[in-house]
Amino acid sequence: MLPTLILKPGKERAVLQRHRWIFSGAIAAYPAEFTNGDLCRVVADNGEFLALAYFHRGLSLAGRILSFEDVPVDLALKQSLQSASSLREEFFRSVTTAYRLVHGEADGLPGLVVDQYADVLVVQVTTLGMEKLRMIWLPLLQKVFSPRAIYEKSVVPSRRLEGLDDQEGWLTGSAEERVEIQENGLRLLVSLSDSQKTGFFLDQREMRSLVREYAARKRVLNCFSYSGGFSVAALAGGAVHADSVDISESALELARKNGELNGFTSEQHGVIPADVFQFLRDAALPYDLVVLDPPAFAKKKSDVAAAMRGYRDINRLVLQKLPPRSLLLTCSCSAHVDENLFQKIIFQASNDAQRFVRVVQKHRLAPDHPINVFHPETEYLKSLFLYIE
Ligand code: SAH
Repeated sequence: MLPTLILKPGKERAVLQRHRWIFSGAIAAYPAEFTNGDLCRVVADNGEFLALAYFHRGLSLAGRILSFEDVPVDLALKQSLQSASSLREEFFRSVTTAYRLVHGEADGLPGLVVDQYADVLVVQVTTLGMEKLRMIWLPLLQKVFSPRAIYEKSVVPSRRLEGLDDQEGWLTGSAEERVEIQENGLRLLVSLSDSQKTGFFLDQREMRSLVREYAARKRVLNCFSYSGGFSVAALAGGAVHADSVDISESALELARKNGELNGFTSEQHGVIPADVFQFLRDAALPYDLVVLDPPAFAKKKSDVAAAMRGYRDINRLVLQKLPPRSLLLTCSCSAHVDENLFQKIIFQASNDAQRFVRVVQKHRLAPDHPINVFHPETEYLKSLFLYIE
């Protein structure tokens, strides 16, 4: 029997509404024998069972819920993994071999991210509680998905808050350093060890396909290109040229390879190592379609003001310089900048640039990054597709 953790009176509300987080202020008492990361049965003030969750005493976001049913934890994890798997089976066909299998709270598995790249899985553990359950989920991942190999890429600053060091390396089997995947029939190499995040920005799949749809005969600029996904998609859609700009040389090296892998020459695909802020100031920008998909400028709430200035700057520069009747796909993956605020920033940038700008499309979610309706924090990525008069 798991130890019991009691909530303060009234604090069961959010849990009953299936939100996955329990904040420290909601906790009346920890069990007598408790160490950080332990699983507990969460009960209301009246003793009623509420959830199965793991806790970390030192954090304000103290508890994360694994199940709202009073079941053994291995069964809870298995049910969530199977449910995550069924959702992906519904949406993915063989033209796409890479998708996120588990997206943390969105799939009821807080602290765990699992990406599938062809037959290799990449896992990322972000919390001590999920770390302590490794003996359960690791065999389950093998059983449910039968991958050729599993690579761990638990390299995130938030692990420090949990008292964890970074972890990286093969957990089971091994594979080549660069795994080839397909996204809507396009071939892309995903680097495992020399990568950002878990290897590839799967969350922008639908927007890459939108760019592909509108890229015919266009000169395309892909800012913050990483491994060139948007550039390859644009060229596949008939763009006359695409330039990938990124500050990371190794990302650009991969971007160049990804272009070649799909038959695009170096005349068609340029790679430009540069700081995008500087590049946008210096370059003339003779492009018809620009993609601005930066890293999260606001990683925490206190970053929001600086992030707003950053978004406003890069968008203003592009809007000032683009020729008439051009397109801009502009994105923000900062969870702390919501859609409303992002749209306001874009309105300001349009005003700064004195251009007539219309939104013609908005972000289309990738189904492997679902939003848990009971847990709105699972929504973080916004995109606006703009037509610039
Ligand atoms: N659009 C990409 C994902 C972007 S990730 C895709 O679809 O795959 C963010 C990228 O921005 C990273 O590759 C990082 O190296 C790059 N980056 C971060 N700061 C930068 C800066 N100031 N100038 C140029 N690139 C930057």
